[in-house]
Amino acid sequence: MSDATASAPAHSILQKFQLTGKKALVTGSATGLGAAIAIALAEAGAAVACHGNRRAAKETADTINSAGGQAFAFSADLSHTASAQVLVDHAVEALGQIDILVNNAGMITRHEAVEFPLDDWATVLQVNLTSVFQLSQLAGKAMIERGVGKIINIASLLSFQGGIRVPAYAASKGGVAQLTKALANEWAPRGVQVNAIAPGYMRTENTSALQADETRNRQILERIPTGRWGEPEDLAAAAVFLASPASNYITGAVLNVDGGWLAR
Ligand code: NAD
Repeated sequence: MSDATASAPAHSILQKFQLTGKKALVTGSATGLGAAIAIALAEAGAAVACHGNRRAAKETADTINSAGGQAFAFSADLSHTASAQVLVDHAVEALGQIDILVNNAGMITRHEAVEFPLDDWATVLQVNLTSVFQLSQLAGKAMIERGVGKIINIASLLSFQGGIRVPAYAASKGGVAQLTKALANEWAPRGVQVNAIAPGYMRTENTSALQADETRNRQILERIPTGRWGEPEDLAAAAVFLASPASNYITGAVLNVDGGWLAR
């Protein structure tokens, strides 16, 4: 807890950002943005189930635990439809319940649209969109029963733009934005807020090739009004807000954390 938070009076606005006692599941939190989100939720007081794909998100959980937080690590391949239930069961077993679900896991494959393999299409749609729906259903059901809960989906600039050579990714992330609104409409009266965050160009391993390409890096920076790549912490701060009671009147929103890219 920061000094500012520790000294804040009980009625302070900062109290509304507290996640003390909350239980969160963050998918894809072995690396990149998901790891930053899991650590930030833990810093705000939540216990976190950290999920990795092939290997459990042990490093992220270790970081949280060694800083005095509470975290558990799990693995599940969300390209298999059966994995969502297994993951939620494991998280609930460890945490007791899921108050905050962050659907961050995602993948991208690149091919010309005309020859895009249908297998790749199915896998990207399963990981990026169908598993988001499955996990939201599974965790959302118990949230609805309790009358309180937060779901945060990680969308993309390609929820709005088409991209090139990434038709499955663009379709899946467009779907994530629409699914966010669809769930928000049904679940708002039941106390569950469903929102999305659309990251812009973020400085992660995932974008290291782009960062290293001098021409692309320059073109990207010229197009971002803020003039820099986004840091994982930029995204994590938005996730803490959308996970907390401070955002209780916000649902069905897609929050762009893109340095102004989409405003241009
Ligand atoms: P990343 O590759 O570090 O993280 C993606 C995570 O998804 C990994 O931890 C991986 O384990 C998980 N994942 C991938 N395939 C999976 C599968 N089959 N089953 C289970 N988990 C799987 O990349 P990142 O940049 O941190 O991306 C996180 C999210 O943010 C993704 O949804 C991505 O589409 C989105 N995003 C990232 C950027 C960016 O600039 N980095 C921009 C827009 C959107």
